[in-house]
Formats: sequence, structure tokens, C-alpha cells
Amino acid sequence: MFTAFLIKYAEIGIKGKNRHLFEDALMHQIKFALKKCEGKFSIHKSQGRIYVEAQGEFDYDETVKSLKNVFGISGICPVVYVEDEGFEKLCDTVVRYIADVYPDREKTFKVHARRARKDYPKESMEINADLGEAILNAYPEMSVDVHDPEILLCVEIREKIYLYSETIPGPGGMPVGTGGKAMLLLSGGIDSPVAGYMIAKRGVKIDAVYFHAPPYTSERAKQKVVDLARIVSAYAGPVWLHVINFTDIQLYIHEKCPHEELTIIMRRYMMRIAEHIAMETGCLGLITGESIGQVASQTLNSLIATNEVCELPVYRPLIGFDKQEIVEVAQKIGTFETSILPYEDCCTIFVAKHPVTKPNVNIIRRHEHNLDEGIEELVKTALETKELIVAE
Ligand code: ATP
Ligand code: MG
Repeated sequence: MFTAFLIKYAEIGIKGKNRHLFEDALMHQIKFALKKCEGKFSIHKSQGRIYVEAQGEFDYDETVKSLKNVFGISGICPVVYVEDEGFEKLCDTVVRYIADVYPDREKTFKVHARRARKDYPKESMEINADLGEAILNAYPEMSVDVHDPEILLCVEIREKIYLYSETIPGPGGMPVGTGGKAMLLLSGGIDSPVAGYMIAKRGVKIDAVYFHAPPYTSERAKQKVVDLARIVSAYAGPVWLHVINFTDIQLYIHEKCPHEELTIIMRRYMMRIAEHIAMETGCLGLITGESIGQVASQTLNSLIATNEVCELPVYRPLIGFDKQEIVEVAQKIGTFETSILPYEDCCTIFVAKHPVTKPNVNIIRRHEHNLDEGIEELVKTALETKELIVAE
């Protein structure tokens, strides 16, 4: 029955020139989201509205599911297109629409007509009244409520006539691409995919970097991160995932630095390398899945130590979340099941039994001096040998 969707979006802050950027980015993201859906679609803008129109057969449920992933959409209205074959015919179609969409018809309603085409023989008020009457005649159990109707039946008179009354909630947020780009430090854990999702929701495009430590971390651990990037791409668009071979750097730090500071120093090198790639690729910030106090390397003192090696801002959208709250989002967005697969984590391989929880930055810096030029060389090699995978 439905062959199109009217896309609603919150218009706050998109006045003037911004409006175009917002709408174009939204249409671009819709196109990407529908690429994997069965059927062909045309996406077009008309009089300040965006319509997604199926060209022939399509899978309704799959299409709605994909549209619900597109940030910037506040609501999705399934639309029935009717050929303009006279008002009588329109009345019949509207009566049938009510029967199909509302099997339980004991409801209040209101008809809201809009004429985008002024040569239509009836004015909006007249259309409202006459269609209302047709509905009441067909279904005496229904009643009109113009102030707070349970069903608001919209009738748009264009080349064709559009009928819609239902709004499926969208995810909100801003269309990806309207807010620049940032680099996500993506591990195989629960937190970082959620962090990436949250920043992408604000319109920021996401690139990612993963630190891989073969043979201590397996191919399967890496594949898990690629899979997570792909799940995030359903919301964020294609994710460029940079895979850094971190093994030699880790072994070298292990050899030269006190074990209880290993995690912190390793994290500092991850941040440095991530920032390097971020700056080369036009990213405006880094993103991590850190949350205060979750582990020793995420106390406020530890965060000072990992933060100070970067110039770019580090966005930590989960900073005040409990684990359970993060898990709930992970389940909602579909990353949880993949995140809990039990493959080794590069961070946990060399962890000390008693890592420092209150690292002193001066001491950390002094111990990093032990790494001298050796580390520079290893970082350079790691950057030169990085692998790029486009997850989508
Ligand atoms: P996550 O669930 O995201 O792995 P975590 O609770 O295991 O987080 P840590 O291992 O301390 O926490 O990592 C903190 C953050 O550092 C992660 O959220 C992620 O952003 C980044 N990170 C950790 N390990 C890696 C890695 N191997 N590759 C890329 N980023 C990483
Ligand atoms: Mg982790």
C-alpha cells in the first residue's frame, strides 16, 4: 500500500545557508542507508520536504529499519500515493486507507489538507470538511476532534495526492557529514563502538584506528574490530579503519618501562599515533570509549596522563556513563553481541597485576625518556606499515 516516505527533520538551527547543507547531507546519508535494501528508490526534495519514493517492489520493513538508522531524521511517515482521478475517487481511497491502517476504528480524527497545486478545484478547508464527512459516513464509530485527534490524516495535493497519518520515530541527531570528521580509537570492546555511535549522531563523520598486536592478538580479534566498524557504519556511513601493528612498540615499552606504568605509557602512544593519523586525514578530534573510574587507566589522574600527549581535543562521550548504561546502548545499536566475543584485547595482554591508578605525569614522562630514539623509529615503521580497511 505505502510506496513512499515523507522524511521529517528537526529544523532548529538550520536556517539560511545551513539548511541546504543539512538537507543535502541528509539525502546523501539516506541514499547510503538504502543501498543495502531490496528495491530501487528515488530521493528528492520538494518544497522544503524530503521524500523517499520506492520505484516498484521493495521491502517495507527493511526500508523502515534502515531509515531509522539515519541521524537527522526525526520522523518517518509512510505515504500512499493516489492518482488524481476526481474527488469522488479520493473519498473512496481515503475511506479504504482508514480501514487498512486502523482496523480498530473507534478513534477521533482530523483531516489536514494542503494544496501544493493551487489549480485543484477545492480549497483546503473544503477538502477537510468533505473528506471528514466521507469518513464519518463510512465509519459512524469515529468522531472528529480538531484540537487533539488520535489520527491526523494529512492530504497533500500535488501532481499526485499524498496520504499519510502515521509517524515512525527517527533517531534524531544531525546528518553525518554536517559536523566535520573525528578519529575514533576503536578496540574490540563494548565501549568504543558506542562512543563512535554517539559522536556520529551529532553529525560527525567517523574514521577509526585499531591497534593490533599479532601474534598476541589473533586475526579473529582484528576481524571483530572490522565487524564492529561495519555495524557502526550502518549509522555513520563508511568507516575508514586504519589498522596499526602495535606489537613492536608494546614489546619495547614492556622491556624499557616499569610494568605498573605499562598500560598508561601504551595508551599515550596510542593517542600520539591516532592524533598523527587524525591530523593527516583532516580529523578535528579524537574519540575514545573511556569512562571515569572504569579501569585503572581511566581515573582522573590517568586521564591527565593520556590526555596531555595530544593537541587535538579528545571526545569521551561515555565519560559519565555506568557500564550498564553503555551496555544498553550497545544492545540497542547492535554492537554488543560482537563486542563480547572472547578474543584477546591488545590492551590487556601486557597488563601489570597492579597498574598505577594515580600516575604522576612527571614520573611517566621521565620513564618514557628510557625509550629514547628507539621508539621514534618504531612509531615511524608502524605508521608506514598501517593497513587501511573501508568498513561499510
Ligand atoms: P573498550 O570497551 O572500548 O575496549 P575498555 O573499557 O576496554 O574500552 P580500555 O581498554 O582502557 O577500556 O581502553 C580505553 C579506550 O582506549 C577504548 O575505549 C578505546 O577508545 C581505546 N583503545 C583501547 N585499546 C585499543 C586498541 N587496541 N585499538 C584502538 N583503540 C583502543
Ligand atoms: Mg578495551
